[in-house]
Amino acid sequence: MRFNLNSVEISIIVPCYNEEQGLEILFERLLRILDRLSLSYEVICVDDGSRDQTLEYLIDYHNRYPEIKVISLSRNFGKDIALTAGLENAQGKAIIPIDADLQDPPELIEQLVAKWREGYDVVSGKRRSRQGESWVKKTTANAFYRIISRISSVPIPRDTGDFRLLDRRVVEAIKTMPERTRFMKGLFAWVGFKQTYVLYDRPNRIQGTTKWNYWKLWNFALDGITSFSLVPLKVWSYLGVVLSLLAFTYGSFLIIRTIILGIDVPGYASLMVTILFIGGVQLITLGILGEYLGRIYEETKQRPLYLIRERYGFEDKLGYKQL
Ligand code: UDP
Ligand code: MG
Repeated sequence: MRFNLNSVEISIIVPCYNEEQGLEILFERLLRILDRLSLSYEVICVDDGSRDQTLEYLIDYHNRYPEIKVISLSRNFGKDIALTAGLENAQGKAIIPIDADLQDPPELIEQLVAKWREGYDVVSGKRRSRQGESWVKKTTANAFYRIISRISSVPIPRDTGDFRLLDRRVVEAIKTMPERTRFMKGLFAWVGFKQTYVLYDRPNRIQGTTKWNYWKLWNFALDGITSFSLVPLKVWSYLGVVLSLLAFTYGSFLIIRTIILGIDVPGYASLMVTILFIGGVQLITLGILGEYLGRIYEETKQRPLYLIRERYGFEDKLGYKQL
């Protein structure tokens, strides 16, 4: 029996930002695997405002292979938002985001789909190893996962990226989440459902360089922590209580000592240390308030998450999704 045109079973979503050199080998490997699965599929490439020829190449592929569809965003919005744009335009019964740089091996899709057929709703690719990453990156990533798993309100699995299979019902759940700060790892964990994983070795990028630098990673970590934990906001009141108790004890001690021994030499050092320390703590607290406040401000602006400039290969009318 032939399916009607709209019954796409698997949607692959590829966020692409300046990936012109890698596309050919990506599609070669991806399409080979997908054809082997004998499922109907679509490959949605989201061009995230690339400054090289990526979009032109993608349109060219779309003309040759109609299963490859292209969404071109109006500018660079970042990977998480590009992914969201893909999720909202995908039709498949299962959706698999995959990186354009082949760090997520397409060959794993077979295993993801097999688990999905067993009845799981979310099948993540879990990294067995991180190749070609510096010692600093590994250590900081480790520390980040340790901290966030301690303080986050939902357990966020470590060593899983965005490479995973999502059943349609999970995608629908994620689409209802209106926040602008799209910490995808967290959102995927938050929705729950029947989850499992398959292990894989994460290879190096085939070409080009990563778009992440330490400043971006730091901001990514802040986004993750602030969207999934209130601990940094709350911890200060406890510290305040402890500090006040200490100050009170020390103050009482000083008063009693003055009463008994009379006025002695003023303690410049202890005074400075206390003032500087408390001042520092206050500044940190203000900064943390600012982090949360800034994000609240972002959310209240109610801007659309992204703007689509053009779509290729979609039959329905273009609607600007207002989240
Ligand atoms: N990407 C994107 N927009 C961006 C940055 C990256 O769509 O602003 C895409 C990029 O093209 C790639 C994926 O996100 O397909 C992962 O990017 P990258 O390899 O730089 O990240 P890493 O693998 O180092 O986490
Ligand atoms: Mg990569």
